[in-house]
Amino acid sequence: MDFNRPNLQKARKRTDKSIDIINFKLDDKYKDLGLNKKYNVITFGCQGNEADSEVMSGILEMMGFTHSEKEDADVLIINTCAIRENAEDRFYGTVGGLKALKQKKKDMIICICGCMAQEEKTITKILEKYPQIDVVFGTHNIHMLPEYIYKQMETNKRVIEVYSEEGNIIEKLPHIRLSNKKAWVNIMFGCDEFCTYCIVPYTRGKERSRRPQEIIREVEDLVKNGYLEVTLLGQNVNAYGKDFKDIDYTFSNLLLDLSDTGIKRIRYTTSHPRDLDEATMKAMQRENIMPHLHLPVQSGSNAVLKKMNRKYTHEEYLEKIKRLKELNPGISITTDIIVAFPTETEEDFLETLKLCEEVDYEGAFTFIYSPREGTPAAKYENNITDEEAHRRLDILHDKINAGYLKGNKRFEGKIVKVLVDGTSKNDPNTLCGYSEHNKLVNFKGNVNAIGTIVNVKITEAKTWFLIGEQVE
Ligand code: SF4
Repeated sequence: MDFNRPNLQKARKRTDKSIDIINFKLDDKYKDLGLNKKYNVITFGCQGNEADSEVMSGILEMMGFTHSEKEDADVLIINTCAIRENAEDRFYGTVGGLKALKQKKKDMIICICGCMAQEEKTITKILEKYPQIDVVFGTHNIHMLPEYIYKQMETNKRVIEVYSEEGNIIEKLPHIRLSNKKAWVNIMFGCDEFCTYCIVPYTRGKERSRRPQEIIREVEDLVKNGYLEVTLLGQNVNAYGKDFKDIDYTFSNLLLDLSDTGIKRIRYTTSHPRDLDEATMKAMQRENIMPHLHLPVQSGSNAVLKKMNRKYTHEEYLEKIKRLKELNPGISITTDIIVAFPTETEEDFLETLKLCEEVDYEGAFTFIYSPREGTPAAKYENNITDEEAHRRLDILHDKINAGYLKGNKRFEGKIVKVLVDGTSKNDPNTLCGYSEHNKLVNFKGNVNAIGTIVNVKITEAKTWFLIGEQVE
């Protein structure tokens, strides 16, 4: 068996080693490997994984594979997420379900990749319990997918190739994008923040930024091909450019240069409050940089923030929000919050609720803390019962939901610009899309509006969406 096992201790290391930029090129011997064969990709987790899945689809189509339902696939890829236990459970449920499929379709090659593949415990479990998995590769070597499929086809043996390294940058990758109007654009990879609860710095390697000219070229091409919106992706986009040794070029420079490409809408995620600077807040005043910021706070308690290694205080976070609102009146702010982090007391939790009021969040992803093996927080003593954790989460939900509704109400009677995604899932006569403030809008309008930006008058605000009608 070809075997390269991950190692979390090694993955933690950060050195001064410079980044290699490798241009992807498909070797001729892999070009027809997928002729008359089909593929499918199942994606768990964040937008970063969705972007990676679009790249893997691009690579597979270059090899001659065509897309199909998972039941008909000759190559099935599962792109995993390790951020919470719940995502891991869903992955094992999916893989368990594939056993029967593999028995029916013995030649099917099942591949596992993404953040879970970077963890030693996953590899151990796969070796012990999941013989139906043929190929495992990690987040650093997606571009080597053709070689792994080739090896597996040639030898019919398992291929496990996971690198525990700081990581390089691969350019000129193909993409099969799910939308022809909205695109994810990776601007950087990895994370050096080492929040104590988070596995990402181990699974994704060190912070490394793509060169600006590569990103600008990608967005210019998207504009030429009719794309209207890009979402810039990175674990901590506000740290973009900090790793450049030869140029002084940061995230705000990139925002301004991308704004000049003529793309209609720019969004970005995820931000780290410590690295959000004044220049970025000012860049957001540009008309095509959307007035919405997702700024994860995680907790309102200084004691908990310290334990989490977030490197800012409640007061510093609020100071940034105040300045952001001064420079960008009406901006919508959303966040991530973890409740029941080990050591979180009732007073700490009340600090979080207080902060929610002070900021006036218009939405949040809220979670109960879930320990990730290999992270420092997994070793913290945790006396908070499940019942108490759920009580805190319920209280927080009520607060956040009130914020959603309040944030939506402010648009009643107003005209908002909506990029129309398609028809509503529940009603084919209703169109839906997102406003500049990232609000879901369901509205009556002309189907020809799909894929364009139109004006919609908001007639009613609900907690989770706005209702309206298209106007000229
Ligand atoms: S900033 Fe913190 S939470 Fe976000 S990816 Fe990095 S370590 Fe994880």
